[in-house]
Amino acid sequence: MNSSIQEIRHVLEQYDRIMITAHVSPDGDAIGSTLALYGWLHSLHKEVVVVFDDDVDEKFNFLQDYEAIQKPEDIQTDDSWLTVVLDATDMNRLGHAADLAKGKILNIDHHISNQHFADWEYIRPDFAAAGEILTYLFLTWNIPIEAAWADALYLAVATDCGFFKFSNTTGHTLRMAGALVDAGAHPNIISEHLDARSLAKMQALGEVLQHIELFGSNAVAGLAFTPELMQYTGEHTGSYMDYVRNIKGVDVAFTVKFVSDTETRVSLRSKTVDVNAIAAVFGGGGHVRAAGCTIASSLEDAKKMVVKEILKAI
Ligand code: AMP
Ligand code: MN
Ligand code: MN
Repeated sequence: MNSSIQEIRHVLEQYDRIMITAHVSPDGDAIGSTLALYGWLHSLHKEVVVVFDDDVDEKFNFLQDYEAIQKPEDIQTDDSWLTVVLDATDMNRLGHAADLAKGKILNIDHHISNQHFADWEYIRPDFAAAGEILTYLFLTWNIPIEAAWADALYLAVATDCGFFKFSNTTGHTLRMAGALVDAGAHPNIISEHLDARSLAKMQALGEVLQHIELFGSNAVAGLAFTPELMQYTGEHTGSYMDYVRNIKGVDVAFTVKFVSDTETRVSLRSKTVDVNAIAAVFGGGGHVRAAGCTIASSLEDAKKMVVKEILKAI
């Protein structure tokens, strides 16, 4: 059950040592919300660390405090530390960062599939991003939002709602984004950084698009990131999903990504179908229109299983 907004503030102010983390394969929301919270807690002169058990895409390196992001092996904690888990449903989503959570845990999240695991939680599935929740908390607490945190929070909100194009965009989402721009966020600079690609990566897009496949009378589109295709794209493949989901007539879009011969990472997006339910079949989750899971099978087998479940659902 959610703690009150004042209790969340009290918990954060009470601790002197705080570790902030979010889900593996961190996206804009995971990174932006952790760095904004880091900014505020750091300004209160606390000992604060930001940990991700994954490489962070360097396209985010324009954010203030990007350099503060550390790997689990670089950090020592004990049970006097508070762990803040942002944008994640359960401890299994944290990779090795979970091993550093030795004391109490505060979870701030917006996933419908949240597992309600923490000592204190503030879960808002009606919000588009963890960054939208944090913005709302800062505003409610009357904490002046510094421009650098506003940039991080704007990036968090904008990336999770597809720059205000997805169905999770509400009036509240836009009001929070407006407040962030008023606080000094730079929408143009953020978009420039996120959209910029090397010419080689831009040209690789042509190769990637050739690999999109259609299923189920063209209502389903999928893309498999084989090791060969990832020679063109690199490790960070999240940005290609938009091309799959934007194909005319497609309701469900998915990507499957090679991790190893026995592990495949799956992303699902939809216009009407509940993809959280499809991801849940494989032990994953997320939101109704955007979800993910990891399947302990080869890329080809995982793709077949995912297509089968999607075709059942549409
Ligand atoms: P992705 O396709 O990785 O961008 O994930 C889509 C949404 O589902 C994001 O909000 C993720 O945080 C969430 N998600 C992805 N994988 C999982 C999982 N295994 N368990 C719970 N939520 C997930
Ligand atoms: Mn996320
Ligand atoms: Mn999110």
